[in-house]
Amino acid sequence: MTVKAYGAYAPDQALESMDITRRAPGAHDVQIAIDFCGVCHSDLHTVRGEWAGSQFPCVPGHEIVGRVSAIGAHVTQHKVGDLVGVGCMVDSCKACADCGEGLENYCDNMVGTYNGPTPDAPGHTLGGYSEQIVVHERFVLRVTHPQEQLAAVAPLLCAGITVWSPLRHWNAGPGKKVGIVGIGGLGHMGIKLAHAMGAHVVAFTTSASKRDDALALGADEVVISKDADAMAAQAKTLDLIINTVAAPHDLDAFLQILKRDGTMVLVGAPDSPHPSPQVFNLIMKRRAIAGSMIGGIPETQEMLDFCAEHGIVSDIEMIRADEINGAYERMLKGDVKYRFVIDSATLAA
Ligand code: NAP
Ligand code: ZN
Repeated sequence: MTVKAYGAYAPDQALESMDITRRAPGAHDVQIAIDFCGVCHSDLHTVRGEWAGSQFPCVPGHEIVGRVSAIGAHVTQHKVGDLVGVGCMVDSCKACADCGEGLENYCDNMVGTYNGPTPDAPGHTLGGYSEQIVVHERFVLRVTHPQEQLAAVAPLLCAGITVWSPLRHWNAGPGKKVGIVGIGGLGHMGIKLAHAMGAHVVAFTTSASKRDDALALGADEVVISKDADAMAAQAKTLDLIINTVAAPHDLDAFLQILKRDGTMVLVGAPDSPHPSPQVFNLIMKRRAIAGSMIGGIPETQEMLDFCAEHGIVSDIEMIRADEINGAYERMLKGDVKYRFVIDSATLAA
């Protein structure tokens, strides 16, 4: 099947309309007519070749929501017409210890929704800036939010799960003081989810203009991270920090506000390394720096169900497909409140 998509032919080229092909659904495949796709900073890193290994043509997009349009003969969990989502993965080995524990995101043979290995043409996966996608049933999530919220559900599939997983793994909840660094797509979901889990939430931003928004999103306190006095006032008080910043920056300022045994989890994935932090900032209070990558399928479903139950969606700005290049420039300036979402109906225009 040939469908309309938006992507780039080279890292130094703008995204443009293109035709791509999708395989006919195999026995365990679900074909999805995409309604909306969120715009993640990872899309920009990949399509511009900022990380090693980008393949072209590149069609980004891994915050996909839509309706099932066809199913393979052996698919039992989804039927035509169901509201569903697809996040950052479309396949994995399904046999290793990680897959066995529902942590497909850490499988050595995990296949990303775009830029992953596949026998399908052109030899690497093409993502959600497209009209349809075909995905193994294991990687298709149920969406139970009301249909009118569908566009705002899309960013939960990457931004939501990427902050949910470390918040759960490091036990965010009542009695815990949790910092969220960077109020973009991931960060604004981090504030909402940590707040809903019952934690005391401190938002750290470089943008003073986001202060009121951060409070409205659920932060108990907002700190302008460039203000040394405001940072010093937080010294040794945080249990956990989720750092979503997409650029290299000074980690020491954040380590110093962790209390003893506190952890800073890096989820932001800048194209060049952070300056090495001072080892003494780790040693002195047995602090840790960790990383975390998206989340497994069972925990992604758990997050979606939690969000449906608590009425949580992303704050979005809807764009047409042909506005994507401008949207990337705004994202680089931190000027997005708080996630762009492509209306897939505009792909064919
Ligand atoms: P985003 O919407 O662009 O948000 C990033 C935020 O970081 C900005 O809004 C800004 O917030 C802050 N920021 C940006 N540049 C900064 C700088 N030079 N110094 C300080 N703060 C800066 O991006 P996103 O989609 O949330 O993604 C964030 C990062 O996470 C990206 O690197 C992305 O690739 C990565 N990611 C990782 C995973 C994973 O599995 N680990 C999953 C998805 C995305 P303020 O204005 O509030 O300062
Ligand atoms: Zn993403």
